[in-house]
Amino acid sequence: MVPLDPHSFTDSTHPLTTHISLSLYFDFPSSTIHGAALFTLSSPHSGPLSLDTRSLSIHQILSPSTLSPLPFSLSPSPDPIKGIHLSLSLPNDNTLSSFLITFSTSPSSSALQWLSPPQTFNKKHPFVYTQCQSIHARSIFPCQDTPAARIRYSALLNVPRELSAIMSARHVDRRLPVSGEGYSNLLPNGFNSLWCSETRVVEDFDMNQPIPPYLFAFAVGELGFREVGPRTRVYSEAVEGVLEAAAKEFAGTEEMIRQGEKLFGDYEWERFDLLVLPPSFPFGGMENPRMVFLTPTVIKGDASGAQVVAHELAHSWTGNLITNKNNEHFWLNEGFTTYAERRIVEAVQGEDRAVLNIGIGWRGLNEEMERFKDNLEFTKLKTNQEGVDPDDVYSEVPYEKGFQFLWRIERQVLALDARYRLSESKDYEVKVAFLQLAILSKCKNFYGEVENTLKEVGRMKYLRPLYTALVQGTENEEEKILAKRVFAEARECYHPIAQGVVESIFAKHL
Ligand SMILES: [Zn+2]
Repeated sequence: MVPLDPHSFTDSTHPLTTHISLSLYFDFPSSTIHGAALFTLSSPHSGPLSLDTRSLSIHQILSPSTLSPLPFSLSPSPDPIKGIHLSLSLPNDNTLSSFLITFSTSPSSSALQWLSPPQTFNKKHPFVYTQCQSIHARSIFPCQDTPAARIRYSALLNVPRELSAIMSARHVDRRLPVSGEGYSNLLPNGFNSLWCSETRVVEDFDMNQPIPPYLFAFAVGELGFREVGPRTRVYSEAVEGVLEAAAKEFAGTEEMIRQGEKLFGDYEWERFDLLVLPPSFPFGGMENPRMVFLTPTVIKGDASGAQVVAHELAHSWTGNLITNKNNEHFWLNEGFTTYAERRIVEAVQGEDRAVLNIGIGWRGLNEEMERFKDNLEFTKLKTNQEGVDPDDVYSEVPYEKGFQFLWRIERQVLALDARYRLSESKDYEVKVAFLQLAILSKCKNFYGEVENTLKEVGRMKYLRPLYTALVQGTENEEEKILAKRVFAEARECYHPIAQGVVESIFAKHL
């Protein structure tokens, strides 16, 4: 066994799971989900394959074509952090790249909170929701529960007809159950025959963008929603007052997404919906892709919840598209996201608000230093978490120390010009290299120097990279306009060969 992640039984010599197709029956009276799932691996495999589980009953593992049982074993006692090691055995002919597992969760599954009606806003219906970060997805279905594995999935959620479901996935359909659909005929404990009972409905989802397992998410309850933007709905329990307050609080979400796109590139997850959970949700927010989960405490009536939304939105680029390999590198997710969040807040709410947030964060970081003064390992950015439960050492350090590190780099690079006057260098090798970086970083205070340089030199070695930096890519209309204007004014001073080169750059990019 060659471990990949201190918090997972995943073996780095085994192929990773690329797709899971889930059929899940939600049994609210027993706070249990009964499931059957088809797992697809990145390549055929023979012999043992390791998966993570916690608080799950594993009923059967089957070959998908013949439905013949495949042998498996479970570790006799749970590891206090990693849970139970499920080792299944694939045939030795190396022909199988998929297998079926039937399983049930337990009421103590750590990713799930089952709320009885009195614990909800509407007091009428039960509610269940997930929180899989950092290592809790394994308590809903067996998986290689490490961020190093990225999976696509489809899911049929069979729920009581009076409830509805949302997921961090594309909603395909809500409809009556169909007999034998998905892998429902394999469901354990007689729930296969209850699949089509007249009190039930199926919510069908598909997630065709690969995600680490900790971003798997759903909620089931009596849900309602309000449209607040072209790609944003705010969901909550169907309670008029909660929905109205949430819609008002998050009315500025589309503007925030647009500012995020200007800073970091296209938003790639299509929808940016928000779910306001009942009060027991343990975090401020969770960046589940397409469907951010939020605590109701961010609804204060003064749009200050925008900071939490900015943070979860920033994860759409840092964390969700590019993810830490395991939790020891958690600062790569959260430090970059806190930096990106404050860039968005600066654009939407102004510099003063961003500076205030930096100050509040700095105070929080100092409090964490006091908390960990006898365990300095967890004041580091990259930590050693062998034998450590990530929930026990969760803190603001990866967020705020990571932010401070990146902010320092940013200030040192701007200070570089103040000290060495690179943008005014008489050495065009240095000057053009610096101005190229300034354009790509959209440092507009150097655009005057870019214009001067393009008007005073005709050497193609310098014209080519500067014009290319200005016109390549999208989201840089201002730079394109600048390039066209400067070229129109400087054209006559360029040699015809240089004129041709600039025109061909324009032809390629404009
Ligand atoms: Zn975060």
